[in-house]
Formats: sequence, structure tokens, C-alpha cells
Amino acid sequence: MHNSKHKHFDVIAIGGGSGGLAVAEKAAQYGKKVAIIEVANMGGTCVNQGCVPKKVMWYAANLSHAIHDAQGFGFNTQHNGVNWTQLTQGRNEYVNDIVKYWDQYIDSNGIVHINGYGKFVKTEQGIHYLEVNGQQYSAEHVVIATGGKPIIPSIPGAHYGITSDEFFTLKEHPKRIALIGGGFIGVELSGVMNTLESEVNIYAREDRLLENFDPMLGNVLMTEMSRQGITLNMKADITALNKTSKGIEVVNGNERKVFDIVIWAIGRAANTRDLNLSGVGVYVNNNGVIPVDAYENTNVKGIYAIGDITGRVALTPVAVDAGRKLAERLFNNVPTVRVNYDQIPSVVFTHPPIATMGMTESRAKQIYGNSVKVYETSFTPMRFALSDNKSTTAMKLVCVGEIERIVGIHLIGEGVDEMLQGFAVAITMGATKADFDATMAIHPTSSEELVTMK
Ligand SMILES: Cc1cc2nc3c(=O)[nH]c(=O)nc-3n(C[C@H](O)[C@H](O)[C@H](O)COP(=O)(O)OP(=O)(O)OC[C@H]3O[C@@H](n4cnc5c(N)ncnc54)[C@H](O)[C@@H]3O)c2cc1C
Repeated sequence: MHNSKHKHFDVIAIGGGSGGLAVAEKAAQYGKKVAIIEVANMGGTCVNQGCVPKKVMWYAANLSHAIHDAQGFGFNTQHNGVNWTQLTQGRNEYVNDIVKYWDQYIDSNGIVHINGYGKFVKTEQGIHYLEVNGQQYSAEHVVIATGGKPIIPSIPGAHYGITSDEFFTLKEHPKRIALIGGGFIGVELSGVMNTLESEVNIYAREDRLLENFDPMLGNVLMTEMSRQGITLNMKADITALNKTSKGIEVVNGNERKVFDIVIWAIGRAANTRDLNLSGVGVYVNNNGVIPVDAYENTNVKGIYAIGDITGRVALTPVAVDAGRKLAERLFNNVPTVRVNYDQIPSVVFTHPPIATMGMTESRAKQIYGNSVKVYETSFTPMRFALSDNKSTTAMKLVCVGEIERIVGIHLIGEGVDEMLQGFAVAITMGATKADFDATMAIHPTSSEELVTMK
């Protein structure tokens, strides 16, 4: 049926990141003929320039805090700073091992890795044709999972700045860093580098960091960051970067400061431009995002989009869930299974970390008005009892209706990153405040505060 000039598959994923790997893996398990087109390393952003290398750095920063705090507990520790080369080489080896794991895993599952940049050629009789390095491939089902890349603005000298991608290739420990952007990537990298004893400035356009999160989180984070020595330049208006003999100068209104490194963390743009989507009639928004329905269908039958490229919640587990469920629908005859985009817990790996799920207080009030009841607490956890580093923990539960169903949980503090997952199970099941109250506390922990809130 298909001519021999091209190779035919049941499904091709464009992009071997979180989403592409997930759909390919499941489809292969259902006995389908599967290929992944990937131009860079398997694993995508999360493994190579995102979650994984970031979290290794976060652990390093946590250890740095622990070494400082240990003195208060009677340890005669000395903090001599981090060996950047050892840390970053170890991190890179760890990442490379994961990439190797994926290479072998897809190979042993019979998934074909087409190495190169994929683009659409045409669609004929329900079969989609793609081209990579001059070779054609076809499939009934094509999944676009090409993710995004950091945005660099178009201001004079913007190219003197780097992005989170290059941050993970820095060979030397930068001493003076500017992070531009108050979103999760900006605050995470700031926290890590401040703890690893760089001098950190954050520049954010807004007057609060993490402005899309519940305000309590951004407010506590800003207090913590200032206390820890990060300089916050809020309501910033960066008009240029200049290269000077002393370093890179950031021009913020009338103010100028010089840094060794400037990192743009102002958002990510969808990787759709060179896919020739118009050639096969796939609709793309102005910002490059591919709109899909609740089942990840684009407007063209047999072409789907999952993960960051769909412009919804840009997190690895969301892309993975979308990929797996798409394969379930296509190849396991469960046509109604789909991602629940409303119940997504997530963590921001700051110092201390943030964990959040569901509605902010103001969003809940917009929807439910006066029936919203909020419970809040804030304290210094026992972890800091003997240390001069009195980091705050703050918690908020947003409840609605007579039964006080929990629709939002917002946490910042030591340990909340590991605390939320279990509570997320309860909230996904529809837990109420009374369910929390009926749960026996574990003492002495920070988590017990969540089941004893008045
Ligand atoms: C600094 C940073 C930290 C992050 N931390 C976290 C975290 O802690 N937790 C979390 O859940 N999420 C985190 N994320 C987000 C997470 O990395 C993404 O949500 C996730 O990787 C999205 O998966 P994806 O499959 O949509 O795309 P990606 O993982 O970006 O994969 C897309 C792949 O497609 C390839 N590609 C693109 N175009 C083509 C083409 N035409 N042909 C062939 N290949 C192509 C790319 O090379 C890439 O490998 C972080 C992101 C960043 C940048």
C-alpha cells in the first residue's frame, strides 16, 4: 500500500522529551510500530536542561544550607564553598546516564530513533508524511511533542545574556548574576546560585515574584530571598544589556549594574516554527502554541499535540500523562480517558521550596464568592530550632461550600516539596477540611499543621 521510498509507522512522535517518549513507550507496549524523531538528546528539556540538572543543583544548595545550619547543632563544620567543576561534572554525568538509559530503553522496546529535525511534508488519504534529513517517513498518527525554548527579548544587547539552557553548560562559577524574570525558572536559579554563594539580583517586571501563584507564596518567598541576601529589583524595566570591561551591564530604567552573567528567564516559546504545520493545515496560535481539544487532537485528524507545545501546564508529569493517555485512547480502546488539567500539584524548587495545587484564594472567590473559607498558618519549623537561619513555613488551605471541600493548597517551607504529593491524592479524591481534621497528626512534623489548622 505504501511506496518503498518512505518508511511507514503506526505512530511517529516528533520530539523525544517527556511527552514524546511517553506516547511512544505506551504505543510500543501495545505492539505498534513506533518512531521518535529527535534532533537532540533523548529525554528532552526535563532531562537535559530542566528538572533533572536543576534539581541536582538544588540538592547542592540544600546541602550548603545544611552545612551552615549544622553549626548551631554543635557540629564544628567549615563551609569552604562548592567545587563548581566537581558539582557540574557530576551533574552532567548523571544527566548523560539518563540519556543513555532512554536510548537503550527505546531500542529494547523496538522504537526507532530517527535522528534529526522533523517537518511535515503532506497528508494523503489519512497518512501523514514527514521528512528528516531528506528521508521520508509516514504514519497514521503523528504526535507533535516538540516542547519549547527560552525567549530572548529584542532589546539592544539582549544576546549578551544567556538562558537556562546555557546555565547548565557554565564551566566556571559565576560570582555576580542577574536573573531576569520572576517566574518559576528565575526564582529557582536565583535560589540555587545565591546559596552557592554567588551575588544574585533578580529583575522582575511585576511587583511580586511568582505572580500567577497565590500571593501568599510570592510574598513569603520575597521576604525569605531578601533575608538570604538576594537583591530584588521589582517593577523592573530592562531596556538594554551592554558589554563593558567589568562585565555585562543591565540597564534598568535609570539604574545600571554590572554582572558576570545575565540570565533571561522571561518565558518559553513553542517550537513550532519550522515544522511546516501550515503545509498540512494544522492550526497554530500567533504565539506558536498548537491548540488542542481535551483529547489532544489538533484540527487535523491523526495529528495530535502534547506537552509544552500546547501552551497549558508546562510540567513533565503533565506531558507524560498526556502521552500515555493518548496511546491508551488510540491503541487500547479506552476512548474517554483523558488528562485532568484541573488537579495538578507542582513544586517550585526555591529555598525554601513551594508546593501548590488548585485555586488561588482570589480565583476561588471569583468563582465561589462568599462560600470560600481560608485557613492559614505560619511558623518556624523545628528544623531551625538551633540554627540562626530562621526560615519561615507558611500554609494556606482554600475551602469552598458548607462541606469545605479543599480546592486550593499553597505551601512554602522546608520539606513541603515532598509533603504535597500525598495531600494531592486526598484533594484529587475530593477531600474536605473535615477529612483533614479527622486525620491523626504525625508529631513533631511540619505536615501535621495541615491536619490541625483552625
Ligand atoms: C529550567 C527548567 C526547569 C524545569 N523544571 C521542572 C520541574 O522541576 N518539574 C517539572 O515537572 N517540569 C519542569 N520543567 C518543565 C519540563 O521540562 C517540561 O514541561 C517538559 O520537558 C515538557 O515536555 P515536552 O515533551 O512537551 O517537551 P520537551 O521535553 O521540551 O521535549 C521536546 C523535544 O523535541 C525536540 N524537538 C523540537 N523540535 C523538533 C523537531 N522539529 N524535530 C525533532 N526534534 C525536535 C527537542 O530537541 C526536545 O528534545 C522545567 C523546565 C525548565 C526549562
